[in-house]
Amino acid sequence: MTESPDRVAIVTGAGRGIGAAVARQLAADGFAVGLLDLDQSGCEAGAEAITGDGGRAVGVGVDVSDTDSVEAAVRTVAERLGAPTVLINNAGITRDNLLFKMSDEDWDSVIGVHLRGSFLMSRAVQRHMTEQGWGRIVNLSSTSALGNRGQANYSTAKAGLQGLTKTLAIELGKFGVTVNAIAPGFIVTDMTAATAERLGVPFDEFQKAAAQEIPVRRVGKPEDIANVVSFLVSDRASFVSGQVVYVAGGPKA
Ligand code: NAP
Repeated sequence: MTESPDRVAIVTGAGRGIGAAVARQLAADGFAVGLLDLDQSGCEAGAEAITGDGGRAVGVGVDVSDTDSVEAAVRTVAERLGAPTVLINNAGITRDNLLFKMSDEDWDSVIGVHLRGSFLMSRAVQRHMTEQGWGRIVNLSSTSALGNRGQANYSTAKAGLQGLTKTLAIELGKFGVTVNAIAPGFIVTDMTAATAERLGVPFDEFQKAAAQEIPVRRVGKPEDIANVVSFLVSDRASFVSGQVVYVAGGPKA
């Protein structure tokens, strides 16, 4: 448990993968958790599991790239759990392709979910944080922010999130709000499974090959990210803001 059991956290993209693990960890840390996802049934199941373990949680459907949907979802969390003062901008998609094959839709949808989504969510939740004089935002960037073949849209969005992180840290610091980013390397989720499938490589072989390139010689698990989130949202991290933490088993990927 944390020192502040009444605090309310929102995790976007919490229906599966990294977001689901982060929601479980924050609940274990004593936060009430709003699990937001495009797939309402996935996040409702996660919320029920947390409630079954004695925590407080609610699953709410949202499209983070849509202003009205974001405003409604944040309002629902505030009404059902209390004012949210922790926000984990985790929802994400990939639409990989080399530049000459990348469609307008591939570009717009990836920028829309990651960049516009994190902007809309942060704007909607910051009013609760500034009112309370305390808050934490953690944005999910990626090692792809450093550049990755076939990911012009995604690497641009993930680099952009690092700029958003540093700017919000500067703007919100005086309200007791810290803003940081985590840049994961290879984490075993549906997202990396989809990449393996697109490349026509069995997922276990894809993981083995990736592990050979990672200094600690293993691929990451969603819990590796959840552990770092747990620290960044705690009171112990109150002097850490505007930072990008690469969680990749090595210095970059
Ligand atoms: P994932 O398993 O594909 O999960 C992504 C989640 O985001 C899904 O539950 C998805 O909902 C949700 N989502 C997508 N679009 C949304 C929208 N418009 N509104 C609300 N929710 C939406 O991905 P993951 O691997 O856990 O990745 C989580 C985050 O970490 C992403 O930002 C990703 O870019 C980042 N990351 C992942 C890795 C990795 O190796 N896995 C590495 C670096 C960074 P649906 O289920 O309804 O589609």
